[in-house]
Amino acid sequence: MTSNSSPAFNPTADVLSSIDVQASILRNELVSLSDINSGSFNAAGVDATADRLARLFASLAPSSSERIEVAPFRSTDDRGEWQEKPLGRALRLRKRPDAPLKIFFCGHLDTVFSISHSFQKARQLDADTLNGPGVADLKGGLLVMYAALTALEQSPYAERIGWEILFNPDEEIGSRSSAPLLAEAAARNHFGLIYEPAYADGGLASERKGSGNFDIIVRGRAAHAGRNPEDGRNAVALASELAVALHGLNGQREGLTVNVGYVHGGGALNIVPDRCVVKFNVRTSQASDEWWLQETLDQLLIRANTRYAAQGGFELELRGAITRPPKPVSAGTARLQALLGDCGRKIGLDLAFRPTGGCCDGNNLAAHGLANVDNLGVVGGDIHSDREWMRISSLAERSKLSALLLLRLASGELSWQ
Ligand SMILES: [Zn+2]
Repeated sequence: MTSNSSPAFNPTADVLSSIDVQASILRNELVSLSDINSGSFNAAGVDATADRLARLFASLAPSSSERIEVAPFRSTDDRGEWQEKPLGRALRLRKRPDAPLKIFFCGHLDTVFSISHSFQKARQLDADTLNGPGVADLKGGLLVMYAALTALEQSPYAERIGWEILFNPDEEIGSRSSAPLLAEAAARNHFGLIYEPAYADGGLASERKGSGNFDIIVRGRAAHAGRNPEDGRNAVALASELAVALHGLNGQREGLTVNVGYVHGGGALNIVPDRCVVKFNVRTSQASDEWWLQETLDQLLIRANTRYAAQGGFELELRGAITRPPKPVSAGTARLQALLGDCGRKIGLDLAFRPTGGCCDGNNLAAHGLANVDNLGVVGGDIHSDREWMRISSLAERSKLSALLLLRLASGELSWQ
C-alpha cells in the first residue's frame, strides 16, 4: 500500500490559474485603454492613460507613486527653427526598493496615432483578435505587466522582490525626454522587463539596432526667379544633392542604413527658395558605426560647402545624434533569455529569440548596462498602422510567462546571480 500524502500546496499553479480567471477583465480593460487617444503629442490623453493605470495598479499597493514632468520634445520646424512641444507626464511606481532582487518594469503610455488620426477605437475582429490603436504597441503589454505583478503580490514570496515601474510618455518619439528616468532605473535594478509586443509568431527580440534622427538645414538666399535668379542661392537644389548623397550611404557600411524621410523647402515657384530642411534616420549595428557616421556626415557637408563656396551665400547646419545605441546580447541579457525560455517551456511556449532592426527602451537600458528582455507584451502585429492587432489569448499566456519568472525567482527555484 502506498502512502497517501496530501497534494502539495502549489502556490505557483494557483496564481497561474488565477490569471485565466482574470482574462476577460484584462481584455475589457485593454479596450478601455485603447479607446483613450494617447498620441505622443496629446499630452492630456497621455495623462488620462496614466490616470487609468494609476487607479488599476493601486491594487498592488505600491509604496510610492509619482507623476514626473519631462522636458518638452524639441525638433526642427519647416523653416529650420527649433520648436518645442509639451509632453504628458511619466508615472513611476515603486515597491520594496530594499528587497534582495530589484526588477525594473517599463511600458510606454504613448502611441503613434495623433488625436486627428482616423484610427481611434478598438474593435474585435474575431474570437481571438482585437484591432485598435496601441492594443499591441504597447497597451496590451501594460496589462500583461499588471497581471504578472498581481500574481507576484498574491504569492507568499512577494517580499523577496522589489519592483520599479516606469510608464513613460514619449517612447514612440525616441524617449529623449524620459531617457534620464530610464538611466536612473538602470542604475538601481538588477534587470529590466519591457512590455513591447512579441513578434506576430510569438518570438522575442535579441539584438536590436541603434537609431538616431538627424536634420540638415540648408539656408540659401531668396531672389526673383525671372529678374535676378543669379542673385539667389537655391536651398532646395543643394538640399536635393545632399538627400541623394545621404541615400547613397546605404550599402557603404555593413549593418548601417540611412532613410531620408522628409524634405521640405520652397513655396512660390517664382522665388528662388532660401530654406530647405532634410530629415533622416540612421540605424547602426555596432558602437563604432557612430564614429564612421559622424566622420562621413562631416565630410559630406564639407564637400557641399566647398563646391558652393565660390558662390557664397549658403549656410549648412547639421543637428541630431544616435540617441539609442545598438543593443547587443550581454551576458546578463543572455541569462535572462535563458530563464524566460525555461519558464516558457513550463507553459508550452517554445520562445525563439531573434534580432531586429527596430529599437526601443531596451536599447537605452542596455546602454546603461542593465540586462533586459524588451518585448514581453502581447502577441500582435501590423503595429504603427490602422491594421494593428493583438491575439486576445496572449494576454493570459504572456502574463503567465512573466508571472512564472517572478514566482520562480522569488521562491528561490531560479536564481538571478
Ligand atoms: Zn512600442
